[in-house]
Amino acid sequence: AHVIAVLNQKGGSGKTTIATNLAHALKLADAKVLLVDSDPQGSARDWNEANGGQLLPVVGLDRETLATDLKAIMGGYDFVVIDGAPQVARLAAAAVKSADVVLIPVQPSPYDIWAAADLVEVIKARQEITNGKPAAAFLISRAIKNTKLSGEVAEALEGYGFPILAHGTTQRVIYPTSAASGQTVFSESGNPAIEEIEAIAKDVLELLP
Ligand code: ADP
Ligand code: MG
Repeated sequence: AHVIAVLNQKGGSGKTTIATNLAHALKLADAKVLLVDSDPQGSARDWNEANGGQLLPVVGLDRETLATDLKAIMGGYDFVVIDGAPQVARLAAAAVKSADVVLIPVQPSPYDIWAAADLVEVIKARQEITNGKPAAAFLISRAIKNTKLSGEVAEALEGYGFPILAHGTTQRVIYPTSAASGQTVFSESGNPAIEEIEAIAKDVLELLP
């Protein structure tokens, strides 16, 4: 299975939103997808409970043994999407170890970008001992529609040396409202958020080794 980890130690950056929607997009493209909830708060598990476990298999792996535990259960899946935990550095390191691709959702604000510094270091340290695995990219989360990424924000991100995914999410009510019933943006056909998520999924597939 390809492992995609959605990580950022900053809470509220959009990890669970991206992880659930991306996982669903991959499933709708006919892949077998496992969603891993590495957040001890269990948001993805709550989301899964809210839909009666109907959309995706979701498993909680919120200990440092994540990398080993995941190996034991990921056979048979095409993709594993890991929803990252806030603030738990050792969990993030375990997820980085498991990942083929790390997505780092950041809101286009300097605070979010500065807060990613530690994670970037963890990823780079891992890349050095593995010949570049995992690939990593920033994903701009909750951008205001029709607003260009400011030069300052783009510059701050580029300073980390990882690419910025061509597509991200914009601020839309469908993200929280669909999540409230354990759904994703795909629950409302024709909603423009579907195109955002599909574009993100396509970008991510291109990052896979
Ligand atoms: P994290 O998992 O990083 O803590 P969440 O995915 O839970 O972040 O997002 C934090 C809050 O922001 C949630 O209430 C979520 O519904 C909301 N949110 C996330 N992305 C968007 C978006 N693109 N538009 C509107 N609300 C969003
Ligand atoms: Mg979360």
